[in-house]
Amino acid sequence: MIIASLEKMKCSILNQHAEPWNTEETSGSLGSYQTDSEISSYTRVKTQSASSASSDSGYEGKDVEDTNLLMKCCHLACLIFRLSFDLGCNSAEVTAQKLYREFRKHWLQTETNVQLSRCLNKTKAKYANKEKIPKELESSGNLAEEIKVKATLRGTADWAPPRFQIIFSIHPSLKRDAVVAAQNFTCAGCGTPIELKYIRRLRYCDYLGKYFCDCCHSYAQTSIPARILMKWDFRKYYVCNFSKHLLLSIWQNPIFNVSCINKTLYTKAKELNRVREIQEQLLHIKKLLKTCRFAESVLKEFEQVSSHLTTELHLFSMDDLVKIKRGLLMPLLRDILKSSISHVENCELCQAKGFICEFCQSSDVLFPFQIATCKRCTVCKACFHNQCFKSGECPKCLRIAARRMFSEAPSVAM
Ligand SMILES: [Zn+2]
Ligand SMILES: [Zn+2]
Ligand SMILES: [Zn+2]
Ligand SMILES: [Zn+2]
Repeated sequence: MIIASLEKMKCSILNQHAEPWNTEETSGSLGSYQTDSEISSYTRVKTQSASSASSDSGYEGKDVEDTNLLMKCCHLACLIFRLSFDLGCNSAEVTAQKLYREFRKHWLQTETNVQLSRCLNKTKAKYANKEKIPKELESSGNLAEEIKVKATLRGTADWAPPRFQIIFSIHPSLKRDAVVAAQNFTCAGCGTPIELKYIRRLRYCDYLGKYFCDCCHSYAQTSIPARILMKWDFRKYYVCNFSKHLLLSIWQNPIFNVSCINKTLYTKAKELNRVREIQEQLLHIKKLLKTCRFAESVLKEFEQVSSHLTTELHLFSMDDLVKIKRGLLMPLLRDILKSSISHVENCELCQAKGFICEFCQSSDVLFPFQIATCKRCTVCKACFHNQCFKSGECPKCLRIAARRMFSEAPSVAM
């Protein structure tokens, strides 16, 4: 009965917040939750309960009080969790500690007014582990003691707040009941205990592979990094609020090395492989252009794309991969390469830095960026025609070896 009314009240709170949350959804910016309005509405709830606490007569019995407190308890959990996220603080320990502080503050205020039921005491213990936490936590006097307490404070025995982690693997599709049981029948986001009959109403987060209550999951949809990296699957999946903000905050960061995570992606995604081929040429030509004092304007063109795309192979952000899939990155890279090649072909300084194939001695000027026609000796880095190059017979390497032998010969004779 308590949980049922708790659900109802949570619903009404959600409705109160409907407006600010909607604006947050549309703006889509990180950390734009309406913190002020949440706090003020929380105070409103508190005042209501305080006034009802003073009247002992009539229908406002113990059950109503318990429900109020339980409801606040759940609401607080969500509120503090969001607050900590808004402040850019993702440490689980800090979140848990804030949670504890808020609960403690709240109960110290209400304990004098309200007779707490056994049920509530149990919940309180579960959430705050009050008995186990020494009073020194609140005082900043003994720092070492506080750090020790902080180190052991991660959620409750049944629940720990989600970690800020990058997940590279796709979660196996397990039965809902099994996953919720593994979560100790709590919401993975806020730790609210879930009754068996409400398990159906929990919402799945495809990024974390866990179930969340409706406070922690607003049916946001996004592509999942693991699905892109493993299956080149850009479809959108439901994620909890925590994952939504996590993914939003890392979306532009080049932290995914395709050759480390899943090399076969290049064979699976032809467009990605074509981008890599162009990148390889851009990498070489950019190095050459940086040594040319006439290349300033063409180097400016490289600024159209993120610098990691033309300085490092295999490294992508989620945003890069989405752009590649949509065909937006390829034309840009191709244009930059075209301008760069035309500079090198018409620039005397750059031409002077090219190679002559020492196998055939033809007059072609070769450059490392010509990956289709030119082969580079891995030892001396000289360039040759692909068809001319014979491994182990590099003329430059042989020349260097001969020179070394000649210079070492007198010392051997001595
Ligand atoms: Zn929750
Ligand atoms: Zn040049
Ligand atoms: Zn040649
Ligand atoms: Zn060589």
